[in-house]
Amino acid sequence: MCVLKIQGAREHNLKNIDLVVPRNQFVVFTGVSGSGKSSLAFDTLYAEGQRRYVESLSVYARQFLELMPKPDVDSIEGLSPAIAIEQKTTSNNPRSTVGTVTDVYDYLRLLFARVGTPHSPTTGEPIEAQSVSHMVEHVLALAEGTRLYLLAPLVRQRKGGLQKEIIFLTQRGFQRLRLDGVVYSVDDVPEVDKNKKHTLEVVVDRLILKKDQGPQLADAFETALSLSQGVVWIENIDTKERFVFSSRFSCPVSGFSLEGVAPALFSFNSPLGACAVCNGLGLHITFDERLIVPNKTLSLKEGAVAPWRVSFYNFPVFQALSGHYNFSLNTPFQELDPAVQRVIFYGTGKNTLPFVQEGGGCVHKPFEGVIPLLEKRWKNQKDKPWAPKDLAAYQVRVPCGGCGGHRLKPEALCVKIQGLHIGDVTRFSIDKALEWVGGLEGALVPQKEKIAKRLLHEVCQRLSFLKSVGLGYLSLNRESGTLSGGEGQRIRLASQIGSGLTGVLYVLDEPSIGLHQRDNDRLIQTLQHLKQLGNTVIVVEHDEDTILQADYVVDIGPGAGSQGGYVVAHGSPAEVIKAPQSLTGAYLRKEKTIPLPQQYRSFNPQRVLCLKNAHLNNLKNLTVSFPLGCFVAVSGVSGGGKSSLVMETLYEGLHHFFSKTDNVFQSYQSLEGVEHLDKVIHISQQPIGRTPRSNPATYTGVFTPIREWFSQLPEAKARGYGAGRFSFNVKGGRCEACEGEGVLKIEMHFLPDVYVDCDTCQGKRYNKETLDVRYKGQAISDVLRLTVDDAQMFFDAVPAIYEKLALLSRVGLGYVQIGQSATTLSGGEAQRVKLSKELSRRSTGRTLYILDEPTTGLHFEDIRKLLEILHSLVDQGNTVIVIEHNLDVVKTADWVFDLGPQGGEEGGHIVAQGTPYQLTQNPHSITGPYLKKYFAKGVL
Ligand code: ADP
Ligand code: ADP
Ligand code: ZN
Ligand code: ZN
Repeated sequence: MCVLKIQGAREHNLKNIDLVVPRNQFVVFTGVSGSGKSSLAFDTLYAEGQRRYVESLSVYARQFLELMPKPDVDSIEGLSPAIAIEQKTTSNNPRSTVGTVTDVYDYLRLLFARVGTPHSPTTGEPIEAQSVSHMVEHVLALAEGTRLYLLAPLVRQRKGGLQKEIIFLTQRGFQRLRLDGVVYSVDDVPEVDKNKKHTLEVVVDRLILKKDQGPQLADAFETALSLSQGVVWIENIDTKERFVFSSRFSCPVSGFSLEGVAPALFSFNSPLGACAVCNGLGLHITFDERLIVPNKTLSLKEGAVAPWRVSFYNFPVFQALSGHYNFSLNTPFQELDPAVQRVIFYGTGKNTLPFVQEGGGCVHKPFEGVIPLLEKRWKNQKDKPWAPKDLAAYQVRVPCGGCGGHRLKPEALCVKIQGLHIGDVTRFSIDKALEWVGGLEGALVPQKEKIAKRLLHEVCQRLSFLKSVGLGYLSLNRESGTLSGGEGQRIRLASQIGSGLTGVLYVLDEPSIGLHQRDNDRLIQTLQHLKQLGNTVIVVEHDEDTILQADYVVDIGPGAGSQGGYVVAHGSPAEVIKAPQSLTGAYLRKEKTIPLPQQYRSFNPQRVLCLKNAHLNNLKNLTVSFPLGCFVAVSGVSGGGKSSLVMETLYEGLHHFFSKTDNVFQSYQSLEGVEHLDKVIHISQQPIGRTPRSNPATYTGVFTPIREWFSQLPEAKARGYGAGRFSFNVKGGRCEACEGEGVLKIEMHFLPDVYVDCDTCQGKRYNKETLDVRYKGQAISDVLRLTVDDAQMFFDAVPAIYEKLALLSRVGLGYVQIGQSATTLSGGEAQRVKLSKELSRRSTGRTLYILDEPTTGLHFEDIRKLLEILHSLVDQGNTVIVIEHNLDVVKTADWVFDLGPQGGEEGGHIVAQGTPYQLTQNPHSITGPYLKKYFAKGVL
């Protein structure tokens, strides 16, 4: 069967659709945001593929099957095992790195174990393990008649007496030994000074070399090796020239030795390899005073101690402190006596404080201090793979002094290939690592080369895949938790290619995210490659080039939510372009376009935000003047430094400025022009809440007037219900079985948690009495199920409600149910909910909005609407800065900064800046050439 046949798909908004897509092809699902692409690709195809996979597993696994939500679909034929490669960031486990998740590190460990050479950390010289026959051969190659000592070094530069050793040697029948360089007979060794350091060698043999002495030498070597833990010296008695032999990897000078070199020695997750100081984390983590009290102008009462801000539990401590040290809880932290500040951080030591008891009376006990208490809490939780995030906010991380951040024991780091240890190699970018690995072939001695060949091939292949998806700038030791969603996804994509599976259904979510147009072609080739391995590749994507290069395109729509869920067009890209009813087709055939602005805004050079000497990550001491009152785009290749500049430097700086907190990691010299702004707002695609308790109605605040409205209804008044009765977050009106969530969470061991409707309230979240209150026949639970557009009609008589809903509609969310739980909103939907909240604020015209790839998940049509809103914010005098690759966005910007020229170390420069048209004329711009097509008809 070479098709995938879906019948009667009804998940979420899907309208009972039937669809046939070819197998072993590269298929794109497209359509406006919220049209149902993910519902079809992930919630139907992938979910069912997963279910069938679980079905094939053990009985134990199958007992959970019933609980796995079965997608609402009549039948799917031709389904293969499915693997989803989503954007969701990988684990935050600090032990997971780019190298480990791609298996490259495992191959490197093998490589270093097999062909690496241990080096002495003292002398830097290689130390090789030698066999006895090798040693004998070496000696026999010396001139006949040479007078030699064969010595076993026993004690090196050690303080103390040597009696024990000497008795031992006498018993074993040895006759001579050498103490501090002088040879003695065992019977007349002088008494040694115990307070001085001594060196002792046993003279195992004394000989005048003859060519037939092989067997005698071998015996002597064996004896010496057994005495000295693997090291033997051969010394020319006349010239004092010394040859050192070692049967183990051990440094003849310092005695530094290695038991053996196995792959586990290079694992920082194994006690065999992990640095003993940091346990393989590579970092030293401490709590920092500046992060604990980020705003010193606050008093203790106002929450100066940030980790304790919301904890009333600690209030008695502060009271006791203030009584004892005689200060007011209203005094700003910075005005407290430094000694008191110290006590708050580090405790009272042995001294005690009087704590007032609830029932009166007083107990005296010491106070441990905020930092020791935080440390205690952290240690208790540390062994879990994910250290709690809330504590991390108060910690600084510095490279471990034991291993210099390489995570490994000295024994592991002494093993080198071409002068580099494994930590040096993982510090390389993927590009550089590829070069290094490529250079090894031919550079190794033939015997080692033979061993290394297959390993090098595997490493090379994986690194090349990573490079081909545009990630050549990432270093292998980069923690996976610090990667962006797009980077993480492309890494998983590269790993899948490396795995070489065939017959799999791969489902991907916008792999082009975070990628510059320049690298897009290589990504598409990678997807084609995955197909050529014998897999079906389904990609949810809006990128024009990806759509045009697909084998098959499915356009879902026509609108979003209830207005979507149909297959509008399907077929080859050419067929979809021609389909008259397809919105995607209309954009592809340029019948619809995102227009260039009528006019670009000019800016006042006096009204700029000037960031001086930004140097975070790869940024090359940039001084950047961001024009205010404009729409500014920051573009450039992936890894060029866009996020480092805009999010981690500019936004961080402004955020600390406006919240009056210390910017402990300030990575720039100064930020000027802040006086032109009154706030900075980051509008991200992060969910608006992490629990089903958050939804568009609660987030935008429209739920407050709705609850008030319900409390004013005659029935509510008669029963004495206030607005709180209609909240599902507090006791009273809500269903207590599910505590107002409407769903119950079922934990599934090895699978993600599953939510099922609460059977007490049937998912309505309220108790029966609350639901008795109705407006126009609808209870509060029914109102939460209305879409924004329907709710607007429903409340057309209530301006306070109507107007807030109109803003949600304006950002294109008219189709969303106002009570839809935050956890089910897509990133693009969450972003627009946030935008709508911003639109509801009274504009001061002095706000800076920052957005990071706001077009993620958006179709041409959605982008057009988004741009309208963003530009309207700028029209009110505000400033918008976006990090964006999407050319339809960049072309509308008043000013563009182009970062590059490459990702990683070779990036971090502003290669060009100007209006979009100026970029097309700038030979250094990377984005310019791609913008040219929009200006074919000339400049505005
Ligand atoms: P797309 O992928 O095309 O952006 P989705 O398939 O994510 O669209 O969503 C289609 C519709 O289904 C939207 O209205 C969305 O809000 C809704 N939806 C998505 N997930 C859920 C869910 N878990 N529960 C209820 N509605 C959902
Ligand atoms: P862009 O946003 O243009 O894709 P980034 O600012 O994310 O680029 O990255 C610029 C450089 O800084 C890259 O080499 C990247 O690998 C590095 N980098 C970014 N974040 C971190 C981090 N948390 N730790 C180490 N290096 C980082
Ligand atoms: Zn360490
Ligand atoms: Zn309930």
